Amino acid sequence: VSYPSIVGEILASGFSIIGFSWICSPACTELEVVVMDWLAKFLQLPEHFLHETEGPGGGIIQGSASEAVLVAVLAAREQAVRRELKNHPELSESDIRGKLIAYSSDQSNSCIEKAGVLAAMPIKLLPAGEDLVLRGDALKEAIERDVAAGLIPVICIATLGTTGTCAYDDIESLAAICEQQQVWLHVDAAYAGGAFALDECAELRRGLDRVDSLNFNLHKFMLVNFDCGAMWLRDANKVVDSFNVDRIYLKHKYEGQTQIPDFRHWQIPLGRRFRALKVWITFRTLGAEGLRAHVRKHISLATQFENLVNADARFELVAPRALGLVCFRPKGDNEITAKLLQRL
Ligand code: PLP
Repeated sequence: VSYPSIVGEILASGFSIIGFSWICSPACTELEVVVMDWLAKFLQLPEHFLHETEGPGGGIIQGSASEAVLVAVLAAREQAVRRELKNHPELSESDIRGKLIAYSSDQSNSCIEKAGVLAAMPIKLLPAGEDLVLRGDALKEAIERDVAAGLIPVICIATLGTTGTCAYDDIESLAAICEQQQVWLHVDAAYAGGAFALDECAELRRGLDRVDSLNFNLHKFMLVNFDCGAMWLRDANKVVDSFNVDRIYLKHKYEGQTQIPDFRHWQIPLGRRFRALKVWITFRTLGAEGLRAHVRKHISLATQFENLVNADARFELVAPRALGLVCFRPKGDNEITAKLLQRL
């Protein structure tokens, strides 16, 4: 966390905005559009994720990665139900809902499985490879098996930077399968997304031009305090169509204009916090270079620690260091690791 972010949080609390719609606080919506585009450019995301680019893409600040994943899962589910109803008029809606299935890796964060529980749609956790990476071949095999059994694949949630070892799923090969099968591809980059800002980590961004949505937590790597989960959608209309429930008291003069999104349709609650203010102040105070330097410092500290582990005969690495994460253990029985963990 950083002081600028804390100041932003204090100001937002003081203003006490409850941004149901644009008219409740134009700044709350409009500053979010500005900072989400800044952030997308800073992370070098594909242009179709920017509000300022013509088209249906854009970004929003959710509370957490869990919320972003749930929104993607629910929107993908509703899009799939509508598509199947159109293609198979002989099936009832409940028949279709009973056949839906989603996919992720057995290395994905607990919030992915939880999104499946909340969305009442099973999410199969596919086995990652020995390097803990999920690839297209595992997804292809699972989809072929499920389609043959009459199921309807809906969404695959890949991870860039898994919680356990910061492994990166192979987005290109997963995207190829998702495109063939009309499956929504979401990327959870809750932690590793901060490294997209570094030219030396450009490899991590490979395939992002082919994903439908992604999330990244500013409260993990970007010196912004909790809560601040950025999410981008390639086609926000798919979310708006799925979640749009209107009332007369929510109407305002800019309704339906793409430059002024109604973020309430992109999220689970109606009201929203003015989170953009702490992002704006943090970016304006520390600057892009300051934030990049912070991510590089994390990586350099982890590299130093990795060297210390490698130089000490009592310890070993369990996975290659990735960004700021070093997975290590004392050599020998697992009990020693458990004891060390407890002492730490
Ligand atoms: N995804 C990954 C890869 C994570 O590491 C975490 C948390 O550590 C989450 C999702 C959950 O994040 P949140 O607490 O913002 O829901």
